[in-house]
Amino acid sequence: MHLRKRILVTGGAGFLGSHLCRFLVGQGHDVICVDNFFTGTKDNILDLLSKPHFELVRHDVTFPLYVEVDEIYNLACPASPIHYQHDPVQTTKTSVHGAINMLGLAKRTNAKIFQASTSEVYGDPKVHPQPESYWGHVNPVGERSCYDEGKRCAETLFFDYYRQHNLRIKVARIFNTYGPNMHPNDGRVVSNFIMQALRGEDITLYGDGSQTRSFCYVDDLIRGIVGLMESGDDVTGPVNLGNPNEFTIRQLAEKVIELTGCGSELVFQPLPSDDPLQRQPDISQAQQRLGWAPEIQLEEGLQKTIAYFSSLVAE
Ligand code: NAD
Ligand code: UDP
Repeated sequence: MHLRKRILVTGGAGFLGSHLCRFLVGQGHDVICVDNFFTGTKDNILDLLSKPHFELVRHDVTFPLYVEVDEIYNLACPASPIHYQHDPVQTTKTSVHGAINMLGLAKRTNAKIFQASTSEVYGDPKVHPQPESYWGHVNPVGERSCYDEGKRCAETLFFDYYRQHNLRIKVARIFNTYGPNMHPNDGRVVSNFIMQALRGEDITLYGDGSQTRSFCYVDDLIRGIVGLMESGDDVTGPVNLGNPNEFTIRQLAEKVIELTGCGSELVFQPLPSDDPLQRQPDISQAQQRLGWAPEIQLEEGLQKTIAYFSSLVAE
């Protein structure tokens, strides 16, 4: 018999959260989407609003929440540097107070709880690629610290609730993910480059474009997140989820120009402070413990994302 679970998704109106809500509703679950719409939007979940097993709650996770649920996916937190640096104190509060509130809810309801952690916990890494055993190289007082240290503290809280209260926890360290429903003005590199290309504007490379990232398509990531939640209780993480294919930011720009067929020029702007020089996930744990690996490679994923942004530009 199919078991209909009551599932809470915080940050459910954002980029990843909206895909996750759609996936879970599609699986027949009862989904409560909680969001304060700081970076997320109702447009991302318009198709879900009329569904009887989907419920939208406007709420800020830095305040307590009382609902009865079986599982919690905690995704609430701005993820783009321009957004998380806009109000850095609120960013730390969202990660830390948000984690405390959601962990308290999980404890009261005996729910299993997933945390969307990040590759940023590795900072500007001195070990490459990054395995989960690496403790990272993070500036505690820089402009990215509100996000990096907030997420690191959230991981600490998850593992203390696990040790102290036997909570069932699932911590994923998510690496750069892209796809439809990213906000066009989100400021992250994939959305920036595609929007610039589609509008025929210059493509802004920060630094000399030699820094690297490894880009995961959203459908692969959602499969990984749900696979982690459904794994045995002995699998707590932290587990890296991302695509290990690594590219320089310049290569990404050139690929976007090729695929959009635009005539944009590359322009160089200063590299933001503490911008990591390289990033690539070691995903052997996800492969071994979850049987998970990404399947969609950059060109295919970019084509789907370009099609989404083209439809926005055409509106
Ligand atoms: P996003 O900005 O699109 O989504 C975040 C959502 O959280 C938004 O809908 C926003 O309105 C909501 N939110 C923010 N503060 C809140 C608060 N105090 N209360 C309630 N809702 C709040 O970003 P995303 O890319 O979908 O990221 C989702 C999660 O995944 C974040 O926790 C992020 O740190 C993590 N993550 C994402 C990536 C990535 O590449 N997309 C990589 C690593 C980690
Ligand atoms: N970047 C860039 N041009 C842009 C936006 C970002 O060159 O218009 C660079 C940025 O400096 C970083 C990389 O692309 O080196 C990824 O940036 P993003 O903000 O997407 O994510 P993060 O730095 O958190 O990985």
